[in-house]
Amino acid sequence: MSQPCIICVAITGSLPTKASNPAVPITVAEQIESTQEAFEAGASIAHCHVRDDEGKPTSDPERYGRLKEGLEKHCPGLIVQLSTGGRSGAGQARGAMLSLRPDMASLAVGSNNFPTRVYENAPDLVDWLAAEMATHGVKPEIEAFDLSHILKAHEMWKRGQIVDRPYVQFVMGVKNAMPVDRDVFDYYIHTVKRLFGVNAPWCAAGIGSNQIVLNEWAIAAGGHARTGLEDNVRLDRERLAPSNAALVERAAELCRQYGRPVATWQQARDILGIPLKA
Ligand SMILES: [Zn+2]
Repeated sequence: MSQPCIICVAITGSLPTKASNPAVPITVAEQIESTQEAFEAGASIAHCHVRDDEGKPTSDPERYGRLKEGLEKHCPGLIVQLSTGGRSGAGQARGAMLSLRPDMASLAVGSNNFPTRVYENAPDLVDWLAAEMATHGVKPEIEAFDLSHILKAHEMWKRGQIVDRPYVQFVMGVKNAMPVDRDVFDYYIHTVKRLFGVNAPWCAAGIGSNQIVLNEWAIAAGGHARTGLEDNVRLDRERLAPSNAALVERAAELCRQYGRPVATWQQARDILGIPLKA
């Protein structure tokens, strides 16, 4: 049987608003409800950002704490991944929630351009975030916006800055960063297998209408898939996605088409080496 596919749901992000899609969960209560539906639809990882009372991105550890607690209560077994991305804060504030000891956190290991700004990840901040994750037993997910980020993750693993074999996510289709390019995608897979082993798990995310493209490429090529309203708020040109769960169901349908079982949370924890914390 082919390997189960882990579906990660990126529920909120930093950018989408109720104006872009009313289904985007903004408050912690909305986030818990939306994630529970997505979990029941087959997601086994939730990638989470939090917003302040005005709906703006924040790295507030108190909010992250409430969200994590709610998800653990309502979605038992779900892998909770908190974002340390740079749109929600600056400097070490981006990692202030790592002491909550979530299962995972996102980690960008290099800089690149975003649509209207530089996505700045200075070497000393990258080292600090990785050290905090190691201290608190948090597994990083490497957000690879560029080939160099995969090689940087390998270097950090060899130096012991990243404890376990890195789990790399290829991010494609962010304007001014890496476009959706099949040859590059194939070379990313080749590089992960070369550096981390032929069985190393990897994941891919596409932005906007490319979400479904990257879902299909990853599922067909044996990788894992990220979906959710953070990256894309539409089902197609005409229709907004009614929920995060609807996007998870769309990815699960692709899994069926390609003969990949959707990973349960137990299988996802096994594949990624993340035991359930007491
Ligand atoms: Zn994110």
